[in-house]
Amino acid sequence: MHRFFLPIPFAEQMPITGKDAYHIINVLRMQVGQQLQIVSNDQVSALMEIIALNEAVVSVRLVERLLTTHEPSVRIILAQGLPKGDKMDFVVQKAVEMGVSEIIPLSMDNCVVKLDAVRAKKKTERWQKIVEEAAKQSKRDIVPQVSLPMTLKQLLTNKQDVLLKIVAYEVEDRRGLRELLQAQENITEILLLIGPEGGISKEEFTLAEDKGMQSVSLGKRILRTETAGLATVAAILYETGDFGG
Ligand code: SAM
Repeated sequence: MHRFFLPIPFAEQMPITGKDAYHIINVLRMQVGQQLQIVSNDQVSALMEIIALNEAVVSVRLVERLLTTHEPSVRIILAQGLPKGDKMDFVVQKAVEMGVSEIIPLSMDNCVVKLDAVRAKKKTERWQKIVEEAAKQSKRDIVPQVSLPMTLKQLLTNKQDVLLKIVAYEVEDRRGLRELLQAQENITEILLLIGPEGGISKEEFTLAEDKGMQSVSLGKRILRTETAGLATVAAILYETGDFGG
């Protein structure tokens, strides 16, 4: 069942326009009477039926509201040290499939990639498009947001109110992820920091710890940066019961 995110509030009858209408009409070649899912910008998910369509607008009417959420119980914010090449495309796509709610690309000391303002904006627009497609494919109820790249200092200021801030630190050898997660009462939101290929510098780690980030080991093996975030998100969702219970 195809799912579309509409930039308008929910109503029993709604118009689908723009690229989504084009996709429905010209790519999917859907007809009156067929059904599809929508998520409105006020977070209503619903099954809708096509009641009319022309070359620009697809009119749909409510069949039933979809009450079961597709979202995990924990809001995960992934702060990802900018990786080399196109790896970030992979990271954002998989993060959305897994259930991450927000992605923050980080420009860190050991990042090989240095993006100027113009390239950063273009890359972020590209990543946001990948996110939107992944959100449709994985039937998310939201379209997670990718922010413009920022520094660790900016991240720690912007996200200082997040109660549980975790840094996966390759030097850490005292505490594992499970120990930290099981020591929490009720996990509702997590800020997760993953370093780039070159790792997290000592200065960055000191700054992160000073601002309340708690370090964890992900085990004796060194995971690639594009693996580390996803493996950690999967472990968190397992712990919170968001992998099917
Ligand atoms: N340059 C680092 C080194 O050789 O030790 C490896 C960095 S690793 C490729 C990229 C990021 O993944 C790390 O900064 C960390 O956030 C995370 N990571 C990978 N393996 C980890 C582990 N075993 N424990 C904790 N974090 C890990």
